[in-house]
Amino acid sequence: MPDSALSLLCDVFGHAAFRGEQEAIVQHIAAGSDALVLMPTGGGKSLCYQLPALLRKGTAIVVSPLIALMQDQVDALRQLGVRATFLNSTQSAQEAADVEQALRAGDIDLLYVAPERLLTPRFLALLDQSRIALFAIDEAHCVSQWGHDFRPEYRQLTVLHERWPDVPRIALTATADAPTQREIAERLQLEDARHFVSSFDRPNIRYAVEAKDGGLRQLMEVIDRHRGASGIVYCMSRRKVETTAEALRAHGVDALPYHAGLDAETRAGHQRRFLRDDGVVMVATIAFGMGIDKPDVRFVAHTDLPKSMEGYYQETGRAGRDGEPSEAWLGFGMGDAALLQRMIENSDAPDERKRVERRKLDALLGYCESTACRRQSLLAYFGEQYPHPCGNCDNCLSPTATIDGTEIARKALSCVYRTGQRFGAGHVIDVLRGSDNARVHQFGHHALSTYGIGRDLDARQWRSVFRQLMAAGLLESDLDGYGGLRLGASSGPVLRGETTLTLRMGAPRKASRRERGNRNAMSVTHEQLAGDAQQRFDALRAWRGDTARSQNVPAYVIFHDATLREIALHAPADIHALAGINGVGAAKLERYGDALLEVLSARC
Ligand code: ADP
Ligand code: ZN
Repeated sequence: MPDSALSLLCDVFGHAAFRGEQEAIVQHIAAGSDALVLMPTGGGKSLCYQLPALLRKGTAIVVSPLIALMQDQVDALRQLGVRATFLNSTQSAQEAADVEQALRAGDIDLLYVAPERLLTPRFLALLDQSRIALFAIDEAHCVSQWGHDFRPEYRQLTVLHERWPDVPRIALTATADAPTQREIAERLQLEDARHFVSSFDRPNIRYAVEAKDGGLRQLMEVIDRHRGASGIVYCMSRRKVETTAEALRAHGVDALPYHAGLDAETRAGHQRRFLRDDGVVMVATIAFGMGIDKPDVRFVAHTDLPKSMEGYYQETGRAGRDGEPSEAWLGFGMGDAALLQRMIENSDAPDERKRVERRKLDALLGYCESTACRRQSLLAYFGEQYPHPCGNCDNCLSPTATIDGTEIARKALSCVYRTGQRFGAGHVIDVLRGSDNARVHQFGHHALSTYGIGRDLDARQWRSVFRQLMAAGLLESDLDGYGGLRLGASSGPVLRGETTLTLRMGAPRKASRRERGNRNAMSVTHEQLAGDAQQRFDALRAWRGDTARSQNVPAYVIFHDATLREIALHAPADIHALAGINGVGAAKLERYGDALLEVLSARC
């Protein structure tokens, strides 16, 4: 092997050390073996095939499901001086012919190709005339019918193994759940491959769940914590996407809407601005995000409940790919839960499917209501045990007070029972609080033994209690889908006084003003740069913006924020010192070294 993996890592990619399992994976593939790599978003998967591509003779063929992504990946590699290119339907016949020629001549290190192109007889024949270093199958979960990214062509990728049994294959995915993992191994004939399974923890993401008050204030607070940075705001409906984007724009935020109802051109334009410019906030339905590789998304805010824990993990995972401090915020309202419940019950899905969906929703509600460490709860859902409370989530940073809620729960459950297990939380709370309204009288509920036994809590506190009872499975939403509540299977022991129940009051709380102050103080996501360094950082970012625009590539392809921050902090005086900065490899040093030093000297 002419170059060792580590020296390539430093010289070409500008990184000082491997992360996690990267080195083992690189050695494994470079030695010609197969691998299945499960690593969370931002874990550094690309390097696991990009480095072996440089270590092995021939061209690495990278199967990638999204044409839009290929361009950015190829741009980024070219910035590093790597001979990368792609073949897809956006190219002219001449461009494609040139790529084919270069492939045959052995002039390409990495070739990105969409699966449908790869599988054409013409392309397979072309591969026969070329030297192949390895096959990388990116986003390998596309082979699974159960995920939402299913791509039928992925099923045919076994042809690679059959036709070129000696060429190593590496399949990669950030999908965490076990059934999908098994399916990938099976469908891609990778049962005998070595499986590299990393922790799915994303330590740099701070998780927070807040009871939402319906207004814009909470969202604006999230955005203000990351002013000038990119973020994603998820909303459940197209309409809400539109109104939220508009409201944010009125508050001076560079917000753009994205949903499937916009025409393709508008969508592409908005996505492009999000990827290329600094500081765009994308307000979107979940139609947005698959394959968004932007490394410097600083926050993901859910203004409505996501569909499931899987969805939540995947969507929040789009924050902080670059490993820098980031935030995942979720605004939680019981109305959302009821809506999702109705959607499940009213769908035409078979009963078995509905049961699965219900379980998933329960898990999500449980997560929202939990007073335990969010990271521990989240990872536990995916079967991973996180050893201790993380210290980087809302529950760790400002623990919620809990009380013995057994008596309160019994009152609520009895009242649901006495009113006939068909009313929603609002009415039951009216009865508990001894409200005098017409509906209570109409049903004769003022005569019940539970009438007025809950005056000690206000309606808001009761709502929280009901959310928690639902999350704990003590109450369930009625099957007719109108939000009527009935006793859950596990309510018996509580009603009979056989077990105790811990509740938090008014939770998940809206942060108090003082706490918000604290949280904002805590959420200074980076060590503040000192005055001078901050000025240098701003100047470097401005330079990066100009440079990126003139080359028509995303800003992060030139340098990541983390790299610019390090440069701003250390203010290297010469090329030699600049070379020691993380993220400055040989090609970028040669290309941008002088310009960077010039920006710095203009600031000194
Ligand atoms: P994934 O595909 O797993 O989401 P990427 O391959 O895009 O992750 O890598 C995420 C980020 O981490 C990229 O910005 C990449 O430059 C950076 N990175 C990867 N490996 C290393 C490393 N060994 N040292 C420092 N940064 C790294
Ligand atoms: Zn925690």
